[in-house]
Amino acid sequence: MQVLRTVAELRRWSRTLRATGGTTLGLVPTMGALHAGHASLIRAARASCTHVAVSLFVNPTQFGPDEDFARYPRAFEADCALAESEGVDVLFAPPVEELYPNGPDPTFVEVHALSDRLDGQSRPGHFRGVATVVAKLLIAAEPDRAFFGQKDAAQVAVVRRMAHDLLLATEIVVCRIVRDADGLALSSRNAYLTPAQRAQALTLSRAVHRAEALAAEGERRASMLIASAHGVFAAEPSEPEFRIDYIALVDAATLEPVDTAVPGTLFAVAAWVGTTRLIDNAILS
Ligand code: AMP
Repeated sequence: MQVLRTVAELRRWSRTLRATGGTTLGLVPTMGALHAGHASLIRAARASCTHVAVSLFVNPTQFGPDEDFARYPRAFEADCALAESEGVDVLFAPPVEELYPNGPDPTFVEVHALSDRLDGQSRPGHFRGVATVVAKLLIAAEPDRAFFGQKDAAQVAVVRRMAHDLLLATEIVVCRIVRDADGLALSSRNAYLTPAQRAQALTLSRAVHRAEALAAEGERRASMLIASAHGVFAAEPSEPEFRIDYIALVDAATLEPVDTAVPGTLFAVAAWVGTTRLIDNAILS
């Protein structure tokens, strides 16, 4: 596995690969602190592409001023070991100055409206940062496919729309949520949780599961599905450090609230456990 630090090296490698013929490149963008959720994206990339690149970049522009950029987990050695063991060809790990040589860019990508919904509502500017860095990575690597996790459902909607509107040639592939045995969606931020908080964090997956089960029984009304998830949260002993950010039933592509679920509708929750913000969701069948 090669570790590349500059856009020029990444571009040269990708173009040489393409010139070989019969090759396809899959890119898995990540912020590192890799876990089994990231590994599932790498495996999906390996299954459908001849070569796989993983980017490791904690993108400062998608963090708000009061967010966890400085303390976000960084685990370069462990990430290299995981990527190598999963058969990754190239790990692209640029320093911040490589992607933002002049500090914050006057040029950015913003997917209007979508970027202000769900997580974008409580994290102003977050999806502008995400769309911009993903666009930079796709332009630099020119992958045939890029792999994203359904865990970040709003990010999926933003990235899909950005790639579509900018006529990017990369196909956006979305992989299902990987969970711990007890249901908690894997996240690099789970590392912040104390044992007690981790137990509380399970409320998110329980709430999503409850709504999913109700929908499977035929309940289609947003009000009822959302109330059922609120019920799951309300049944938790009320800890002051545990609060709901949103519980929403939305169109998975536009992220606009809907009154009635249809197959493909997104049910999404976000909550704060102490200072850690967690998300979970399900696409209703
Ligand atoms: P991150 O490093 O958290 O930015 O995540 C990088 C990619 O991995 C994103 O596309 C995430 O949606 C995806 N991802 C993170 N956690 C999971 C998970 N539990 N299951 C599936 N994909 C995930």
